[in-house]
Amino acid sequence: MRILITNDDGVHAEGILALKQALEPLGEVFVVAPDRPRSASGHSITLHKPLRLKTVKLADGSKAYASNGTPADCVSLGLGIVMEHRCDFLISGINSGANLGWDLTYSGTVSAAIEGAILGVRSLAISVCELTEGEILRYDGAGWAARELVSKLSKHEIPKHTLFNANVPNLAPDRIKGFQVTRQGSRQYSDRLLPREDPWGQPYYWLGGSLVDERAQEGTDVHAIQSHFVSITPVHLDLTAYTLLDATREWIEE
Ligand code: MN
Repeated sequence: MRILITNDDGVHAEGILALKQALEPLGEVFVVAPDRPRSASGHSITLHKPLRLKTVKLADGSKAYASNGTPADCVSLGLGIVMEHRCDFLISGINSGANLGWDLTYSGTVSAAIEGAILGVRSLAISVCELTEGEILRYDGAGWAARELVSKLSKHEIPKHTLFNANVPNLAPDRIKGFQVTRQGSRQYSDRLLPREDPWGQPYYWLGGSLVDERAQEGTDVHAIQSHFVSITPVHLDLTAYTLLDATREWIEE
């Protein structure tokens, strides 16, 4: 199996090395990732300047490719240039931090997997989720989960325009309770815009805020993580709100 891995935390992030080492028993692994952190870059691509690829050495001495492009650019370069369109599986991660609920919309990690799905490759995004604020992230649980998921999913034909989004609780492999297939939940952030004042008395703002502690609905990605399961959600690129088609017709065509 020929595997491409990328991320949005940058080629030298701890999570991508852990992912590479976890997947090596399954086949030949190629690493093509941004040369700097690109978290929350969404699905941006680079159109107005040249894209570069250079070889770098990872912390274990192995070879990887770093690009000045975004995570989605790295997928295009990885599949088209580095792997010459011969790729069986794309995995993006292991992201340092959750990609649950509405996070998917902002996530560079998930966008890389979306790019893979657009280009017709089996794609999986994987992230490790802290369970309490500020804890140190470990990647052994997510590495184990990635290997399990890739070996299971690689046996099946995946429909066009779909991908998988996995989240793993920040636990040792033996403390993870198993896998739960979930739907995308919702996560609410409070105080998203924090106003501050610069030394000259001018206001500025920090985007961020903390999570609202809400009881997650059963069957969602958020709930699976809270229950210490690996969450895996099948995702479709089609964003159409099918339940609104009829009502929209009525409103517009009346
Ligand atoms: Mn990230």
